Amino acid sequence: MLVVMRDHASRSDIDHVVEVLESAGAQAHLSQGEVKTIIGVIGDRETIYSLELEGLSGVESVVRVLKPYKLVSRDFQPEDTVVTLPQGSSIGGGAFATIAGPCSVESSEQMRAVAAAVSTSGAAMLRGGAYKPRTSPYAFQGLGVEGLRMMREAADEFGLPVVTEVLDVRDAETVAEWADVLQVGARNMQNFMMLDELGKMGKPVLLKRGLSATIEEVLSAAEYVLKGGNRDLILCERGIRTFETYTRNTLDLAAVAALKTLTHLPIVVDPSHATGRRELVTPMAQAAVIAGADGVMVEVHPEPERARCDGPQSLDLPAFGKLMDSLPPLVEIVGKHPGVSR
Ligand code: PEP
Ligand code: MN
Repeated sequence: MLVVMRDHASRSDIDHVVEVLESAGAQAHLSQGEVKTIIGVIGDRETIYSLELEGLSGVESVVRVLKPYKLVSRDFQPEDTVVTLPQGSSIGGGAFATIAGPCSVESSEQMRAVAAAVSTSGAAMLRGGAYKPRTSPYAFQGLGVEGLRMMREAADEFGLPVVTEVLDVRDAETVAEWADVLQVGARNMQNFMMLDELGKMGKPVLLKRGLSATIEEVLSAAEYVLKGGNRDLILCERGIRTFETYTRNTLDLAAVAALKTLTHLPIVVDPSHATGRRELVTPMAQAAVIAGADGVMVEVHPEPERARCDGPQSLDLPAFGKLMDSLPPLVEIVGKHPGVSR
């Protein structure tokens, strides 16, 4: 951290800042110019923050040079995190995994049809929402526990792990009873109480990027989960809000490449929510592999035109099969292998 003093700050103001720092156990290193003095500070970050140096006389600004996250960073752990699920699927460290399923769980028949098709095409995990975050309170909100049961049954029949959203921290325990991976939706990315809670639970977490979250905010949110002791976290780039309205969001593939350098955590790309348009899902999934993603998460429905949620961005089963056929050569080009044991 750097404390920048005002131009021509007085000797007593500078000495006072140094005194405050040293009495808190930190070291102060002065760099004195004709006009400006800058104090470099070394010591425990939290303690130094709590000193609220900005308020001291003669202080112009305090610059935080340290990143606000540690456990998630590659500096802290250079090796890739590999998240492995009981069914044998894995993601990260070279294992590429596809997560597929409908936006929302609608019926046992729907889930069974999807699970059968996506497992045949080589998907590593089954997705589906039982608790749906809908913009309108009048839109379909999901089937709740009944939906979780339908999805679990379909997944078990085909040996697939289940990924589903925890919409409210009060449902976390219930969802964890049925699911293998707990999804935190874009709208909850900065629900810090939820992140804390999921950090203490023994289930992998899939954290989606917030609608207008910066890369640093994504990593800081992930830090909450790891800080709680849960190291099994998958990040998800699902597009961000920009001025563009043709696509539902703007897929930020540069963030994927950037995140691969900044963190050891696996990252998946969700081209369905990122584009909102079925015809863009396959090319963006393919691009995601080349950008360095460890997986993709794709919305698939047996009858997209009848879907209760997100039909326009859902692939039907044959289109999903085609997408899956196109991925292996790309996965190979980037030196990865499929994260499925079936
Ligand atoms: C979802 O994946 O079901 C979902 C609601 O996506 P997001 O949170 O990214 O909007
Ligand atoms: Mn959806």
